[in-house]
Amino acid sequence: MNRKVVIFLGPPGSGKGTQAELLSEKWGVPTISMGDLLREEKKKDTELGRTIKEKVDQGELVSDDLAQQIIHKRIEQDDTGSGFILDGFPRKESQLRNLDEVLRDVFGSLPSVQAVYIKVSDEEVKRRLGGRRICDNCGANYHIEFKPPQKEGVCDVCEGELRQRGDDTEEVIQKRLEEFHEHNTSLVEGFKQRDQLVTVDGERSIEEIHRDIMDKI
Ligand code: AMP
Repeated sequence: MNRKVVIFLGPPGSGKGTQAELLSEKWGVPTISMGDLLREEKKKDTELGRTIKEKVDQGELVSDDLAQQIIHKRIEQDDTGSGFILDGFPRKESQLRNLDEVLRDVFGSLPSVQAVYIKVSDEEVKRRLGGRRICDNCGANYHIEFKPPQKEGVCDVCEGELRQRGDDTEEVIQKRLEEFHEHNTSLVEGFKQRDQLVTVDGERSIEEIHRDIMDKI
């Protein structure tokens, strides 16, 4: 297989991570989630960890320089040779240019890139993220309405305590949506101009969306 990079675009809660994982399994290439990489760093008791925590907990983007450094370090690991999937990077046009730089630096040239924009309304995003609960212990995902645990507040897998992600509160969700809208139009336009964009309706079942993506890429 030629090295291929698939980039998922869409608002928070649009299912980028879920669709990225499905594609990852199918193709046997890694998914790189910027949000996960940042949450890993955030846990550390370091200057960098504290800087990231301040931004992420407020629903603000970390600086382009920092995002580029983190993504560069991850892409240069040796599991990306056959391609990879990006979830949450780039999030704006300036980061698209930074990604070009990283790809040229790591691979010597630009690989084939395909962006998949998962469209979901703001109302749906608020419903999905507001009800999301995550196990403190094993990281399993639940939703109070769509995927409730058997016992309220308790993980089915490990009986850990279920919590709301710090940035899934109403106020921070609103802020994350504003960040998204501020940057998304020009980012989508950038991919369109490169002839690298497909769009899918994200308000359907996970399987339907997955099939649609497989048909289009
Ligand atoms: P996510 O898990 O994708 O919703 O990301 C969680 C948070 O991480 C975002 O609200 C931002 O604070 C930060 N973040 C994720 N991706 C980026 C990025 N590409 N650039 C800057 N900050 C980011």
